Amino acid sequence: MSRCLADRSIDHVVLERGEVAHTWRTERWDSLRLLTPNWQSRLPGFGYHGDDPDGYRTMPEVIAFIESYAKAISAPLRTHTTVASLSATETGYLVSTDQDDWRCRAVVLASGACNIAQVPAFASLVPPSIAQVTAQQYRNPGELADGGVLVVGASASGTQIAHEIQRSGRAVVLSVGEHIRAPRAYRGKDLEWWMDAAGVLDQRYDEIEDIARARRVPSLQLAGTPDRSTLDLNALTGIGVKLVGRLAGVTKDGMAQFAGSLRNMCALSDLKMRRLLDLIDEWACANGFDDAGGPPDRLPPTRVEEAPPLGMDLTTGEIKTIIWATGYRPDYSWLELPVLDRKGMIRHDGGVVASPGVYLMGMQFLRRRKSALIDGAGDDARDLSAHLAAYLDGHPTRMVASCARTNESAPSKSVSVK
Ligand SMILES: Cc1cc2nc3c(=O)[nH]c(=O)nc-3n(C[C@H](O)[C@H](O)[C@H](O)COP(=O)(O)OP(=O)(O)OC[C@H]3O[C@@H](n4cnc5c(N)ncnc54)[C@H](O)[C@@H]3O)c2cc1C
Repeated sequence: MSRCLADRSIDHVVLERGEVAHTWRTERWDSLRLLTPNWQSRLPGFGYHGDDPDGYRTMPEVIAFIESYAKAISAPLRTHTTVASLSATETGYLVSTDQDDWRCRAVVLASGACNIAQVPAFASLVPPSIAQVTAQQYRNPGELADGGVLVVGASASGTQIAHEIQRSGRAVVLSVGEHIRAPRAYRGKDLEWWMDAAGVLDQRYDEIEDIARARRVPSLQLAGTPDRSTLDLNALTGIGVKLVGRLAGVTKDGMAQFAGSLRNMCALSDLKMRRLLDLIDEWACANGFDDAGGPPDRLPPTRVEEAPPLGMDLTTGEIKTIIWATGYRPDYSWLELPVLDRKGMIRHDGGVVASPGVYLMGMQFLRRRKSALIDGAGDDARDLSAHLAAYLDGHPTRMVASCARTNESAPSKSVSVK
């Protein structure tokens, strides 16, 4: 967004509570690699030029990539500046930070979709002898106690974490709710290549029948493994991980209760995967790629035992750690604008927030299916910066010095909270 605002000569600052790429430095586990291939982190005017376009970036590589982008575009950054509140004024907005205050006419909320790890309320009933760690806090198996681990959640984070913990010698039980199975490679190409080429990732929010539902769909069960292997539930049971259904609750006496829907969940996930691959096949056929990447090589159905357990006594000492890989949500505790819905999410139309001059970035399916990916930021920023520029131009009370630190006279029109 900063690059797009600069292209339009819109004076702005980018406020960041930590260093550039803060979340990648502080909220990811050690072994994580992007699940999107190197070529697929395209930012406005910036792409991958290395010799491994199909590889997957490690966290230090992601940090270096984002740092070099900030440098290349000379982003007007204010790091170590935490936004404490954003409120409306008569002429625009007041952004109060732990450093100084800013007045501006437009604000871009780019503070991230994954600030807070979601943990169900019944986690408080887990016996105190069991350590509880979120996917945001988890770093590596070496930090966990010896003994069994219950990983809750089987999307990208949960499956990757379950895989490495099982391989560390600890017995893993994986609690599986709704998830979307996906092969890493299909017909000789990365699945992300097919989804990009076939336009799946470009699908727009206003073309989707139930966008509220589409915004809640969990991440694809993909991993950026160096050997390009598929990390699905079959791969996990193949190394000894035990599958149970969705964790529905924990009783006062420490019994974990699992939903009886595991087989259905897996069948549904297999079905969704088949539909995605059918769509890719159709596109390949219509666009001359039918012979290019090899034959349609479908994965066998997910293997699930006949009657998976519906309960587990957490007081026996078998489970020493629970990892909550149950999703993330944004933190808007600093937002003093009446723009939140009943669920605490920002009301917006493709990133145009229900408060004039306020914009949102980086959310699931904000404007396109790829909006929450690094690769999706560019197109969304192009669209939203155009809207923002028109807003500034058409504003009836346009001021010249429209955004400035309250103790400074340097004019600036918009503030981007990063
Ligand atoms: C485990 C995990 C794996 C992922 N893997 C991939 C992947 O493989 N490929 C991919 O494309 N995407 C991946 N993503 C999604 C990825 O997070 C987004 O693509 C990308 O980070 C979105 O960038 P952003 O700038 O919108 O949000 P963020 O990267 O979250 O950045 C938000 C920034 O705002 C700052 N901030 C927050 N609140 C304040 C405040 N009050 N004041 C000042 N600053 C504030 C934060 O410090 C942070 O630096 C993954 C996400 C997670 C959680």
